Amino acid sequence: MAEEAATRFWELYGAAPDGVWAAPGRVNLIGEYTDFNDGFVMPLALPHTAVAAVARRTDGRLRLHSAQAQADGCAQSDGRARVEGRQGVVELEAAALRPGAVPGWAAYPAGVVWALREAGHPVGGGADIQLSSTVPTGAGLSSSAALEVVTALALNDLYGLGLTGPELAVLARRAENAFVGVPCGVMDQMASACCASGHLLHLDTRDLTCRQVPFDPAGHALRLLVVDTGVRHALGDGAYAERRAGCEAGARALGVRTLREVPYDTLPEALGRLDDPAVRACVRHVVSENRRVERTMALLDAGDVRAVGAVLSDGHASLRDDLRVSCPELDLVVSSALSAGALGARMTGGGFGGSAVVLAGEDAADTVASAVAGAFAAAGYRAPRIFPAVPSEGARRLL
Ligand code: ADP
Ligand code: MG
Repeated sequence: MAEEAATRFWELYGAAPDGVWAAPGRVNLIGEYTDFNDGFVMPLALPHTAVAAVARRTDGRLRLHSAQAQADGCAQSDGRARVEGRQGVVELEAAALRPGAVPGWAAYPAGVVWALREAGHPVGGGADIQLSSTVPTGAGLSSSAALEVVTALALNDLYGLGLTGPELAVLARRAENAFVGVPCGVMDQMASACCASGHLLHLDTRDLTCRQVPFDPAGHALRLLVVDTGVRHALGDGAYAERRAGCEAGARALGVRTLREVPYDTLPEALGRLDDPAVRACVRHVVSENRRVERTMALLDAGDVRAVGAVLSDGHASLRDDLRVSCPELDLVVSSALSAGALGARMTGGGFGGSAVVLAGEDAADTVASAVAGAFAAAGYRAPRIFPAVPSEGARRLL
């Protein structure tokens, strides 16, 4: 991938890149809708990654190209973002970047340059960037964070900024929140920047404390599958904002800064103090989900990986019934996988489509995958994409 990226860079810009970097997509094992409540999450990096071949410039220009942009139809331009000819290079002025002014995919890498400059880092010389990614887009596997983090890491190295993984993740998240305009939490960028091969990342989103938790499903004769449903329901964005508002209302009513501060054993009492059923549901989900992350970590520490399955399925029930962010396709993945002998399954990511994770015994994994595919066919849904989630390396320099 690194050599391909360097070759593409050469073809595009007529010179060799200064280096090539990679940042992966991620799948979240457990801890959903907790990262904007100062809560816990536990993602792993996927082998699917964004790769960036980059060279530093000195004239303040930023040239961006993505091998996938035209296929996605996301190369666009306005007065400030000029798209050059058939090669689809977006050309911008680093000093002129403003939130909302760069449409389409280029806002993700451009937003990182903007966020670095906003934070006072000297990246104003600009860069030539050639991006390519194997992370499926819009599948809840964080193709957007992969793009941001790979850009941030490359600029960090080329400009000698000396920023740490968590610092880069925070800036990348700021790019997505304030420049692109997507109100995501910090999990995706932290996972892409900080995950380690063969590990889950236990992340406390309150202070970004990380713990690498060894995770080797194959070593326990298990397989973790990702099922990308290929669907994305439109109501997702509004519903996400609504759930965030519900969580904030719950925290206010309970007199805490965030729902993280509500201990699990005080949950019944806390729920008794809330009148609005929607707010109550948000509080119940977040507080119990934080507990499920801690439970998962305890099970992994004890070597009882099989027992994690039931925790995943509990998490799905909470997202489906309390938070109501699932959808028929995700529910079908979970029900068909469990009927076929999976140990546990749940939707992962924001919901309303996207992906699910399924934990199954190695001997049952193929049967489970066929059962899910069969259930989709019988329901008239598009064939899902199913692949094993191999815990892979976080962001790094390749060349
Ligand atoms: P997710 O992060 O779950 O994949 P998002 O909606 O957050 O979904 O991000 C998807 C968007 O990220 C795409 O619509 C596109 O704008 C951008 N993107 C991701 N990967 C690429 C890529 N390889 N090339 C261009 N744009 C990309
Ligand atoms: Mg995203």
